[in-house]
Amino acid sequence: MSRFFTSTLASLEPYTPGEQLKRPDLVKLNANENPYPPAPGVAAAVAGTVEGLRLYSDLTANSLCSAIARHCGVSEENILCGNGSDENLLLALRAFCDENHPLAFADITYSFYPVLCDLLHIPMHILPLEDDFTIDLSKYCGLDETIVIANPNAPTSLLAPRDAIEEVVRSNPGHVVIVDEAYIAFAGPDASCVPLTKKYDNLLVVRTFSKSHNLAGARLGYCVGHPDLIADMNRVKFSYSPYNVNSMTQAAGLASINDEEYFRTVTAKICKTRDESAEKLRARGFRVLDSAANFLFVTSDKLACGEIFRRLRERGVLIRYFNAPRIDNYLRITIGTPEQMDRFFAELDAILQQ
Ligand code: PMP
Repeated sequence: MSRFFTSTLASLEPYTPGEQLKRPDLVKLNANENPYPPAPGVAAAVAGTVEGLRLYSDLTANSLCSAIARHCGVSEENILCGNGSDENLLLALRAFCDENHPLAFADITYSFYPVLCDLLHIPMHILPLEDDFTIDLSKYCGLDETIVIANPNAPTSLLAPRDAIEEVVRSNPGHVVIVDEAYIAFAGPDASCVPLTKKYDNLLVVRTFSKSHNLAGARLGYCVGHPDLIADMNRVKFSYSPYNVNSMTQAAGLASINDEEYFRTVTAKICKTRDESAEKLRARGFRVLDSAANFLFVTSDKLACGEIFRRLRERGVLIRYFNAPRIDNYLRITIGTPEQMDRFFAELDAILQQ
């Protein structure tokens, strides 16, 4: 830290993203990325933007917002695009929380939430998950605070029922409830809270192209909510980064969201591989939580999970281990292609037999 760094952020602990190791034979199952390439039309769409790159990007990402609105069954005025969910979460917290208005969230959830709170000086109200890592949403009813719920949750992979989330939204009419649906595409039908945005003006759903739309590197996410919430977030966006989504990303997102068939095919493949991989892990004595996401959260009493993580890493298979309270004997394994999972299981078996 230089002597110029603001003392108000001296204790800031930045987020630790999944490692991006460079190794040719690497099987990368550590960042919940999609193992399949972007939709076939994305390359040409991005190439087609080159001429226009001398101009600023479309401020409001008009065509993209319309396509997303169609995909979600809402209107364009309900949508805001940003550089991934991470940016949209920042915009939302800047808009709906401050020094005197805390953010409530679970103790085991997406670890970017506490980092954003530190950055923005927002007090945190942390509610522990139950012993089995489920979330008791009755504890969030009538809280009278801004709330963020990741659903499905990460890293636990568990899905909370939509009607229980609706009750949280209904019972906190004076505050915004943010539902982070980064992994919702893998949760099956009727899991999303998007339809509830038509009924409640205090519900904001945050979604991303990083997981189910194969575009993590393009950095694209969107929010769905009441037009007034979207307008508030736009006030923040236009106060710090008006052209936040670049033209290449807008084109990539448009080509991707318009190819519904590719999205469905890839999502179904990942869910199939996930369910098969869960069974294989159970057969090897692992306890596997019921995943509604594109990753598995597992524990084992055969060998310490930190040790499994280290030995897999040495063998070129990268998964995620969190040295954090309550989950320090768990592993998070992103679902790869069947071939990548075969390699994962071959290396895992070699380690378990040592
Ligand atoms: N929310 C959750 C729950 C996540 O796991 C992630 C990805 N790490 C994000 C949001 C951020 O996604 P994006 O790539 O869109 O910033």
